[in-house]
Amino acid sequence: MAKTLAAALQEEAVSILDIRDEISLSKGEHFGLVTPTYFWELPKPVREFLEKIEINQTEDHYSFVIATFGTTPGCTGEEARRLLAAKGLLLDAAYSIRMPDNWTVWFDLSDSAKVAKQNEKADRTIEKVLERIGKQEQGNHMFLRTPYFTKYFTDAAFSKARMTKNLHLEESCIGCGICAKNCPVSAIEIKDGKAVWVKEQCALCFGCLHHCPKFAIQYGNNATKRHGQYVHE
Ligand code: SF4
Ligand code: SF4
Repeated sequence: MAKTLAAALQEEAVSILDIRDEISLSKGEHFGLVTPTYFWELPKPVREFLEKIEINQTEDHYSFVIATFGTTPGCTGEEARRLLAAKGLLLDAAYSIRMPDNWTVWFDLSDSAKVAKQNEKADRTIEKVLERIGKQEQGNHMFLRTPYFTKYFTDAAFSKARMTKNLHLEESCIGCGICAKNCPVSAIEIKDGKAVWVKEQCALCFGCLHHCPKFAIQYGNNATKRHGQYVHE
């Protein structure tokens, strides 16, 4: 999503993992944050990034956040607004784009035709969002958002869900290391030829589960096995 938007805006998409300590905005430069929604709020790595980053700015910046979501973008817009305000950057607008939800504990992504339709719809929404960014619209335009106070309820559920003991490995693991290499929080290592979780909690991005060539990683009660793997093309 970030790459698509950046290309359309003739900007560069940069992963938060590649930004060290600060962002410097020159006069008139836009600031856009594209984030998924996890448990109705910002993913922990995104939150931690916004808490640690310094933003050097001058003036005239149009700043926006875009959250992708499956059921609701939750309070991601308001959460980002508060975190950015603490850094001195006033958020102008918040948008959301519904996409296939890779939380396959609940969502069944095994029907590729249905998933393709969801992505086509998302592509149409991107066009509308780009139009609004072009007009530098103001306000929180997140569809189906929840009030900020819901975070006080979702925080606890999210923390529990992020326990890596909920993830488990099947015999089919071949120790290829793809999961370990791509885990954004280094929560997986390969030991004795098999994937092992080495942290108590992780970001819960489900990247390991969806990218595994053997579909050897499952979560919870194995509904994930029935619901298939999904990686955006
Ligand atoms: S990606 Fe899959 S097969 Fe490869 S090490 Fe991880 S769990 Fe094992
Ligand atoms: S879901 Fe997997 S890849 Fe994602 S943070 Fe957790 S262990 Fe790492």
